[in-house]
Amino acid sequence: MEVYFDNAATTKVYEEVVETINDVLKEEFANPSSVHIKGVRAENIIKNAKENIANLLKIKTSEIIFTSCATESNNMAIFGTANLKKRAGRHIITTKIEHPSVLLPMKRLEEEGFEVTYLDVYKDGKISLVDLKNAIRKDTIFVSIMLVNNEIGSIQPIKEAVSIVKNENKDIYFHTDAVQGLGKIPFKIGDLGVDMLTTSAHKIGGIKGVGFLYIKNGVNISPLILGGSQQASKRAGTESPINAASLSKCMEVSLKDFDEKNKHLEKLRTYFIEELKKLDDVYINNDFVDVSKSIVSASFIGVRSEVMLHALSEKNIYVSAGSACSSNKKKESYVLNALGLSKNHIESAIRFSLTCENTFDEVNYVIDTLKELLPFLRQFVRK
Ligand code: PLP
Repeated sequence: MEVYFDNAATTKVYEEVVETINDVLKEEFANPSSVHIKGVRAENIIKNAKENIANLLKIKTSEIIFTSCATESNNMAIFGTANLKKRAGRHIITTKIEHPSVLLPMKRLEEEGFEVTYLDVYKDGKISLVDLKNAIRKDTIFVSIMLVNNEIGSIQPIKEAVSIVKNENKDIYFHTDAVQGLGKIPFKIGDLGVDMLTTSAHKIGGIKGVGFLYIKNGVNISPLILGGSQQASKRAGTESPINAASLSKCMEVSLKDFDEKNKHLEKLRTYFIEELKKLDDVYINNDFVDVSKSIVSASFIGVRSEVMLHALSEKNIYVSAGSACSSNKKKESYVLNALGLSKNHIESAIRFSLTCENTFDEVNYVIDTLKELLPFLRQFVRK
């Protein structure tokens, strides 16, 4: 059996997405900015994709800016706001557990003279709204708080956070990185009340290299990429009908029968956690109330993450140690560190990330494999 439990890193592309790409690739190669009939057809594919996404997410087509990935969307939201508002203030608020595509732009802004407050997270994986309120200053221009964390799956109270920020000062822009949220947990963009929201296709059955930044109508940021007048000059560069159509299709498939699929995922996660807890010296790091049902973080005390990861891989079980972005570096997870876990827990943590397509048989195979591997791997622990 082969078990892919690394869906927070990326997902298998849906068959429907592959079909859509094939159709568009064969027929509609023209530049959507060209004025001839073929150009107009290519442009229509983009228009239809935007309309479909807007309908699915109950937003407006003018609020969708296609980008190359979530990393670009996060950079665009952060630098785009900082550039536009730097005369109004130079203070930004974020959290200690954001993805590097938020944290590194923040570091760059600090080098340029901005001040950044990094909110703590507590045992439940969440920020405190009191901390957020206390952090807001007269010169605060921007807040970026992720919806769902990619390592521990904690869900932040974005709606409440937006209301606190806007009550203090409605001109502060609020951005959320919803890469691990959209198509994975139930929410509506409009209900959150954010000014900007980041998404990525390859986390929900789409292809790598496309996502979009939601920018609420009326919110202005300075563009990151300059050039042609595509996408109302908010993001220059020839638009891709393939990217647009495939993004629209993966959103459609992932949101179809969402409640039903989510219930299955919830049962699967609960069962997986119960079984993991029966194993000796295995701890669940994200047994939270507000948590994505797709992520289970567990520590196998005495077995280093990379040793476990490779041992599981030998058995055709694919997982990550922490997040995929950080797992090839020998650095300790800053997310688990922010959660206050001990060194033993951090060094032995594995992230299992599931989708609704995973099965109980797969979970059983993983548990049986762990039962077999754990005593063997623990023989080599240095005492
Ligand atoms: N934000 C979060 C929370 C993520 O999990 C990831 C990917 O792991 C990203 C941003 C970056 O996404 P992309 O690969 O589309 O740039």
